[in-house]
Amino acid sequence: MTVIRLLPPELINQIAAGEVIERPSSVVKELVENSLDAGATRIEVDIEAGGARLIRVRDDGGGIHVDELPLAVASHATSKIGSFDDLEHVASMGFRGEALASVSSVSRFALTSRVRDQDAAFRIEVDGGKLQAARPAQHPSGTSVEVRDLFYNVPARRKFMRAERTEFAHVDDLLKSLALARGSVEFRLSHNGKPVRIWKAARDQQAQLQRVAEVLGDEFPAQSLRIDHAAAGLHLSGWVGLPTASRAQADSQYFYVNGRLVRDRIVAHAVRQAYADVLFHGRHAVFVLYLELDPAGVDVNVHPAKHEVRFREQRLVHDFLFRTLHEALAQTRAGLGTLPVT
Ligand code: ADP
Ligand code: MG
Repeated sequence: MTVIRLLPPELINQIAAGEVIERPSSVVKELVENSLDAGATRIEVDIEAGGARLIRVRDDGGGIHVDELPLAVASHATSKIGSFDDLEHVASMGFRGEALASVSSVSRFALTSRVRDQDAAFRIEVDGGKLQAARPAQHPSGTSVEVRDLFYNVPARRKFMRAERTEFAHVDDLLKSLALARGSVEFRLSHNGKPVRIWKAARDQQAQLQRVAEVLGDEFPAQSLRIDHAAAGLHLSGWVGLPTASRAQADSQYFYVNGRLVRDRIVAHAVRQAYADVLFHGRHAVFVLYLELDPAGVDVNVHPAKHEVRFREQRLVHDFLFRTLHEALAQTRAGLGTLPVT
């Protein structure tokens, strides 16, 4: 005879954590996305020992009221959606209300926050899923999340963490993709107390291109074309590398849908087609592209980590992307490959 049991909540959270929290960089992704959703203009990420010892994300966003601190780490608790209809139109990075519950169930976790325009800050700690009462704390307005000893209570996961250098490289890559997504936000990254990156807020397109150059290399601006085209409720902007900027690896391709980095079959196909007759076989395009559309036109609730999206009108999106990029790249086919960037 079988015995069917309801699982204890801590175990449920640890299982859920397995879906989205693969390694330190996945924690950084969730925390920084929360900071962005909170309207932060400045986000600081401090990492120790590749993230195995400490991941700390500090922001100057709206903050969390002391009464809501315990809810922030509860599962299925979110301030971002409240109905199925909201889910269909979700514009925030988060909406599942799972990240903090998951992360705090597999680490020694602390959340400190001060709501903008209030004079007191409060802190809660969660140790392997066990919540301690809120205590007063020192903190400027905004929120800090500290994640220590990630996976200390999940030995199988801990074992899969790579060398400090490798894990930090993943965090650095992740932060690059977020820094490209939100040019207007200042990002700082440190490892073991040493500053590694400082991206100052980019106030205009030129500054944004400068940030792109910091990620893709100083030669990229001169080897790229500016894209800015809107039609049928779709807006595509950004920069596409000329064939001379192509690489042997497909590791410099950033495509954002409403500010979210996605890996999408439809997008990948459209871009590949657009480049088909200007790139040699085995070479990969370099690009940073931003597609904006009505949130109702794209479903982001496809995968827990939200890397995938589903467009309501796939054909329309595909053809729009293909045509826009194909036309831009036509200039290079005409032998005008060194057109100045506008
Ligand atoms: P989700 O982002 O899907 O809502 P999370 O578990 O990541 O779920 O966060 C739960 C809630 O905690 C959020 O909905 C938000 O209200 C609050 N929160 C989390 N991080 C921050 C932050 N950095 N600043 C302000 N509020 C936050
Ligand atoms: Mg979140």
